[in-house]
Amino acid sequence: MRILAIGAHPDDIELLCAGTLVLYHQKGHEVYICHVCDGNKGSMIYNSKELAKIRRNEAINSAKLIGANSIWAGISDGEVVLDLGSREKIIDVIRQANPDLIITHSPDDYHSDHVNVSRLVFEATYLANLKLWKTNYPSSDRLPYLYYMDTLAGVNFIPSEYVNISDTIETKIKMMMEMKSQLGWLKDMHNCDAPEFIKSVAKFRGFQAGVLYAEAFTQQKLYPQGLTKRILP
Ligand SMILES: [Zn+2]
Repeated sequence: MRILAIGAHPDDIELLCAGTLVLYHQKGHEVYICHVCDGNKGSMIYNSKELAKIRRNEAINSAKLIGANSIWAGISDGEVVLDLGSREKIIDVIRQANPDLIITHSPDDYHSDHVNVSRLVFEATYLANLKLWKTNYPSSDRLPYLYYMDTLAGVNFIPSEYVNISDTIETKIKMMMEMKSQLGWLKDMHNCDAPEFIKSVAKFRGFQAGVLYAEAFTQQKLYPQGLTKRILP
């Protein structure tokens, strides 16, 4: 399968579903990681232009750890809005990957960029394979499965499926540690130590799932898809 994870900011995918992406990679599937925003407002040290460049490189280095392709939509932080231009940008993200499965933010997330990315991905998932809709990339040729990943610290998220990431959590943490510019920011802004945060949430979800470490998801059911089988690893 071709797996596409779409997160708002460079570090969302790494925090919320990277353990599952590592598993997919290990099983021989092709993984694409898209960051919709360029991360240009998340710092007290760099200016926006410097920061966007730094975060682009961090995203590429992080994706490299699992041989994933990094896609960049280039929208400024806080500027993800629901309009036709944004919808076409996300259609092109999907068209670049032509995925069998997409993972993105929950519609009940707490951050406007996350919520709007979730909505745009929901819309574009159904539209990317329309041949008569001309964009910068040729239309995709399938209707992908769509899953929503956990929120930060599980706030306002009731999972319906879990993935056992006990064997991949260390690689997940390594992927997050490549987001070097964000480690200090998370600490200063939210008193969040990234590795401890990842382990604590994964352990909590692991308790729920009956394994050591887990990631949590819900499925967006779409017509017409076979919904009788387990899709996640
Ligand atoms: Zn984010």
